[in-house]
Amino acid sequence: MVAEVYFTDMRARQGLNMLDKLERLFDAAGLEEIISPGDLVALKVHFGERGNTGYVRPQFVRRIVDKVKARGGKPFLTDANTLYVGSRANAVDHIQTAIENGFDFAVVGAPIVIADGLTGKDYRHVEINGKHFREVKIGTAVLDADALIAITHFKGHEMTGFGGTLKNLGMGLGSRSGKQQMHSDVKPQVDPEKCIGCEKCQEWCPGAAIYTEGGKSVIAKDKCIGCGECTVTCPVRAIAIRWETKPDVIQEKIVEYTMGVLKGKEGKAGFITFLTNVTPDCDCCSWSDAPVVADIGILASKDPVALDQACVDLVFKARGNPASALGRDDVEDKFRALHPDIDWRVQLEYGEKMGLGTREYRLIKL
Ligand code: SF4
Ligand code: SF4
Repeated sequence: MVAEVYFTDMRARQGLNMLDKLERLFDAAGLEEIISPGDLVALKVHFGERGNTGYVRPQFVRRIVDKVKARGGKPFLTDANTLYVGSRANAVDHIQTAIENGFDFAVVGAPIVIADGLTGKDYRHVEINGKHFREVKIGTAVLDADALIAITHFKGHEMTGFGGTLKNLGMGLGSRSGKQQMHSDVKPQVDPEKCIGCEKCQEWCPGAAIYTEGGKSVIAKDKCIGCGECTVTCPVRAIAIRWETKPDVIQEKIVEYTMGVLKGKEGKAGFITFLTNVTPDCDCCSWSDAPVVADIGILASKDPVALDQACVDLVFKARGNPASALGRDDVEDKFRALHPDIDWRVQLEYGEKMGLGTREYRLIKL
């Protein structure tokens, strides 16, 4: 099977600006077909960490919002809370950061609904029967939406080599404890120096693995199922998040979470990716380093694997930016050059294997 990936470059002129070209791309890729009148339509965006400037500009998101409305859909912008302590770890901080970064209703014309709720506990289990997870934990707002459009900023990534649509959906829409599961193969431990004995972790532990000893909580390793609930529940962060997993494994886990996000959305999901500001690292960083290639264009497809593969190929063909972290212009595999220990192919190969799409595609230039 060969998937269709639509592409528009960055050339613009009077009467045809990039917003108009985005609209043409949306139409050409048939994304209006996934929306029926009255549908609640989740637009998955990354609002950017505070200090980051690489994310997709709100003006572009506004144009997609308008397209969804024209079709009779009810769009909302969404993302799930982050696991790490930053400016998006709960819904209040997350929305505040989004607004500071320009995703205000007055600009984008749609409300923000954080997918996994106020503190990241608003999720449901989705059965996927993968190699790593039987079930995954996906933010409720996305599961309850009738349709989904992923709006992705493509860039390098410190954990997965590159971050594209699969990463945007899988890691992005996993709940906070879901993110812990993806990030860590190591069971958590309580730091007795920090523990205040409030027992909140015990209330949330689904494995009944935590007990009190000497006024402090202790985790019984034989009962712990590694769900990560306690790490995001502790008010004093006495249960450390242990960022330990192999690059290949985290990519496969992200694919399995993406399967959970897209389950039940057959024929109701579309994907738009911006190959602009291709920074070396994720938009979760509180900075955006110099892009490693010049802006390439915008792509759209109904196949997330084909879309990511097409983006990789276009970045490979582009001349490197010697004034970026690459430091030279003649390197083809920019992601391997930036993150030498990570084989980014794993996410594409595993995504294809698990039936999310195909790496075979036809690039249709508008
Ligand atoms: S990771 Fe989950 S099962 Fe293990 S102690 Fe924490 S809450 Fe309990
Ligand atoms: S939630 Fe944190 S502070 Fe409270 S008992 Fe558990 S580990 Fe200790």
